[in-house]
Amino acid sequence: MSSETHYDVAIVGGGVAGTSASIFTARHGLDTVVLSAGGSLLRRNAHLENYPGFPAGVNSRLLLEMMVDQAERSGAERRDAEVTAIESTDEGFAIETASGERLTADAVIAATKNRTDYLADLDGVTIIQRGKEYVETDERGRTGVEGLYAAGRLAGKAHQTVIAAGHGAEVAVTVLEDHERGFYHDWVAPERYFSGRGINVPPGIEEIDEDERRRREAESIEVMREYFDEPHPDEPEQHPDVQ
Ligand SMILES: Cc1cc2nc3c(=O)[nH]c(=O)nc-3n(C[C@H](O)[C@H](O)[C@H](O)COP(=O)(O)OP(=O)(O)OC[C@H]3O[C@@H](n4cnc5c(N)ncnc54)[C@H](O)[C@@H]3O)c2cc1C
Repeated sequence: MSSETHYDVAIVGGGVAGTSASIFTARHGLDTVVLSAGGSLLRRNAHLENYPGFPAGVNSRLLLEMMVDQAERSGAERRDAEVTAIESTDEGFAIETASGERLTADAVIAATKNRTDYLADLDGVTIIQRGKEYVETDERGRTGVEGLYAAGRLAGKAHQTVIAAGHGAEVAVTVLEDHERGFYHDWVAPERYFSGRGINVPPGIEEIDEDERRRREAESIEVMREYFDEPHPDEPEQHPDVQ
């Protein structure tokens, strides 16, 4: 075993739901690591036409890269790692990877599509067998183990990318609310939207002035121009059983 690093939140699975969740926990300032065995079911898609915001569709591999970039800009760390076991400890969870690394975390979000083997040592997780394996959760993604959450396909959510991304976000906000014991926003509002009415700016809201708004917009245009400058080089991944 090598060194043990502690995180506020460890997210197992760096596909759509896990990456989306990491954007929200990291933006809130929680030390977040995404442990990803690589890939995502979405890499098999030929052209993504039902993700809101892209009128003529978008290359799904490009969308995944942009999500990962957004997570990293938000402060999330990403490690290539296959998680093989998780156990409860007095402080939270200890996580082992296939390369023998050991990490600890206060909270874990499992977002591994239909893979559940690494949860076997945790008492209180209910695995649902329905053709594939799913983890039982409440309506906000909490499992039967305090501090352990499940997101995306693993939590039995419907099979669309926007739903997996939305559920990752919802579960992350649940983690934040459980952590902070309060209602949480994650909004950027125009200057004085709250303060101009004599209201304290609520938790998770940032008010920005017009100069800052224009600076952020200019940066977003520049970043998107770079992403959309050329077609993405990767072809869709084929189903492993196709001859
Ligand atoms: C051919 C095809 C076309 C599709 N087209 C569309 C479409 O047009 N529109 C649409 O809305 N949806 C589409 N989808 C569905 C979309 O891909 C899924 O909804 C989405 O990927 C589910 O997100 P997820 O995060 O739950 O799983 P994934 O994105 O698959 O992420 C799971 C992640 O968990 C990781 N993982 C697994 N086990 C471990 C472990 N032990 N340790 C660490 N990491 C682990 C995996 O490596 C992966 O990165 C398509 C799917 C396929 C197969």
